Amino acid sequence: MVNRMLEKIQSTRRMITYRRIQLEQAAKTIMRVSKQNREELSKRFNSHMEALRLYFEDFRQRQSEILNEALFFQEARTEDVVSELNEQLEKLDSQNSNLKSLEYHEDNVLVFMNDIIEDLYTGMIKFSPDINLEGLKIEVGLDTDIIARIDKVLSRSANLMHVNMPALDGSDRETVSYKDLIKNMWNCLVCKAQLGVKQVECPGCKTFRPLETYENLLHRPEKVTSDEVEALKLRRKIEKQIILDLELNGVENKVEQQEQWYMIASDWLFKWKCFVTNKISRSQNANVA
Ligand SMILES: [Zn+2]
Repeated sequence: MVNRMLEKIQSTRRMITYRRIQLEQAAKTIMRVSKQNREELSKRFNSHMEALRLYFEDFRQRQSEILNEALFFQEARTEDVVSELNEQLEKLDSQNSNLKSLEYHEDNVLVFMNDIIEDLYTGMIKFSPDINLEGLKIEVGLDTDIIARIDKVLSRSANLMHVNMPALDGSDRETVSYKDLIKNMWNCLVCKAQLGVKQVECPGCKTFRPLETYENLLHRPEKVTSDEVEALKLRRKIEKQIILDLELNGVENKVEQQEQWYMIASDWLFKWKCFVTNKISRSQNANVA
């Protein structure tokens, strides 16, 4: 009875240690993922904004060239119109000098030149040079709501959103809870390594995954999953192999006396045999009873 209680205490302590390691590892991983995420996102965000900035700079450049072209044409057009006006001015000037030259003539000559004067007079009444001013001034048309529209487009181009954490086992699964996060993972009690559920022992320090840490194996045997059964089978196989190897090596190393291996507890050996063979012998049953 006392032994049972002591075993239970040991087992509970293992579970507490295990859960502690899991929480610590999860916290570390979350911090690391969060930091990596921050750096990665800043990088992506900045390069996106830089691309937009370059695009706008390029756009400004192109529009500015178009504006310069338009201004160049306006200048040429203005020059054309001004030269037409100058032509008309010259015409007026020449008529003015004609008039001046007429004034110096004798009265009788002036009478004789009545028709010429009449022509100049009606010419001035009708004077209305046909100068086309169309397209002389250019204009820049700006849509005032364009800023709001661009803002909408840009917001879509850089959409900020919250997504879920990836699972610790490296799969593509996304998790919303701690329980999901550590699913398919277990931590080595000795070296704290993170391992997949398909592994039953830590490849680093050769420590077995404690049976207490399986969801159902010890606590809800009736709900045990096929994965858990497979894990148990694999563990039995590995344990058997370890003992076999030790037996063989023990013989081989006899000369060097380095890795002598022997059993000291027959009680433990019996329990172990029951475990690896998954059978309880009659004599063991009698002992338990
Ligand atoms: Zn380990």
